[in-house]
Amino acid sequence: IMKQYILALDQGTTSSRCILFDKNARICASAQKEFTQSYPHPGWVEHDPLEIWSSQISVAIEAMGKIGAKPSDIAGIGITNQRETTVVWDKKTGKPVYPAIVWQCRRTAELIEEMEKDPIAEYAREVTGLIPDAYFSASKLAWILDNVEGVRERAEKGEVVFGTIDSWLIHNLTGGKVHVTDVTNASRTMLFDIHKMKWDERLCEYFNIPMQMLPEVKPSSCIYGYTDKDIFGTEVPISGAAGDQQCALFGQCCFDKGELKNTYGTGGFLLMNTGDKPAKSENGLLTTVAASADGKNTYALEGSIFIAGAGIQWLRDEMKMLESSPESEKMALSVEDTGGVYCVTAFTGLGAPYWTPYARGTIVGITRGTKKEHLVRAVLEAMAYQTEDLIELMEKESGIEITSVKVDGGASANDFLMQFQSDISKKQVIRPACIETTGMGAAFLAGLATGFWKDTDEIKQCVEEGRTFVPSMKEEKRQELLKGWKRAVKCALAWAEDE
Ligand code: ADP
Repeated sequence: IMKQYILALDQGTTSSRCILFDKNARICASAQKEFTQSYPHPGWVEHDPLEIWSSQISVAIEAMGKIGAKPSDIAGIGITNQRETTVVWDKKTGKPVYPAIVWQCRRTAELIEEMEKDPIAEYAREVTGLIPDAYFSASKLAWILDNVEGVRERAEKGEVVFGTIDSWLIHNLTGGKVHVTDVTNASRTMLFDIHKMKWDERLCEYFNIPMQMLPEVKPSSCIYGYTDKDIFGTEVPISGAAGDQQCALFGQCCFDKGELKNTYGTGGFLLMNTGDKPAKSENGLLTTVAASADGKNTYALEGSIFIAGAGIQWLRDEMKMLESSPESEKMALSVEDTGGVYCVTAFTGLGAPYWTPYARGTIVGITRGTKKEHLVRAVLEAMAYQTEDLIELMEKESGIEITSVKVDGGASANDFLMQFQSDISKKQVIRPACIETTGMGAAFLAGLATGFWKDTDEIKQCVEEGRTFVPSMKEEKRQELLKGWKRAVKCALAWAEDE
């Protein structure tokens, strides 16, 4: 029988989604379900692993039901997931010993402050490519081992195991038979040596983590196992897995060195494929493992913007200047420019290349003639300027010249923003017809492992082009705007300095 679909499971921070793709990489059906967010203490964020699993499997069944797809029609399952979130469960019963500690959770910030005083911090940078932070799984896992009664003893006896969300889903899909993770998820734990591609003993020792609780690390595209008969009544191969940003990079067909994508979501994530060698950053970009399907190690540089689309949400919900996010486009276009106004949306500090946690939102250049349209436009432009700061840094640190940027995420629907990005970065901005790139990446990884797609060239041919924005701004104008942005950032930094 011809298998017709690849099933992509997209396990995000606020919802579980499922998308069925056909051989032309078109979406045939999808379903989505939100799940509970718990904030037991200020700064703490938890999820219920069992609810993650039940919501994920229920959307899979719902999506299949929408088009009458049978499990036997599915050629493979691909998983993409919120990264870094940490689960510990009993290997035999599958019962979690504690809620999932979500990547956003800050409970281990002090553990990381301690770590920074030790030479291990520099070692971790070298080996894992990450800047030590409470985001990553290591300190979260250490916290569970140190704070949940009995867990350490059970871990030492091999009874309880650790995994990120991909591992947890594969455990459940295979009826507890398989305990694995993929290289991209492993690279976000801060326990994984991205050069040797294996768990690092010294870091495990520092965090006092018994290594037998760690999953086996596999490529992002391979058959991890088959679904348990009790789930679908038939065995379906689970054949792809990668973290959400790495899947978006793959789903954007950034298969080659130098290709990059930017996601304009609530926050922004810029990732660039740097080929078979990790690029080292001196200015706060992360070095991470990229998903690949050809058996070769592939690396990426990653930079993030804390507030991207969230700036537009702020204008809408707090400032009441907008009825809806898309309305920002019409308003921005209703004025010629920002009238000299810049808004540095450093609401929660500034990331690379500035790295100032104490910076706060700063609006400069206001005159008697400033209107809300100018401010709306300035907030949209701020997304583009921050992206440009990261692009410039990536070019510098990787030594790779970037010619185009592939885009996705909610705010990439904004044509004004995309044109402005193209102008300010002097690069083509390419928006695919389907911006579900995360799910597509997971599907591609799963489909390549099972022969559903022959190779990445075949995939490239299926992906529909959307729109390409080409730079048209005069260089003089561009330089003038960039200079204004740098001055505005200086103001935000000066405010932070006197804290
Ligand atoms: P996430 O996956 O991070 O939840 P999405 O990719 O769904 O985010 O993008 C949602 C964000 O995009 C919101 O912050 C919203 O304000 C912004 N957004 C959505 N549409 C537009 C638009 N047309 N113009 C500008 N911003 C937009």
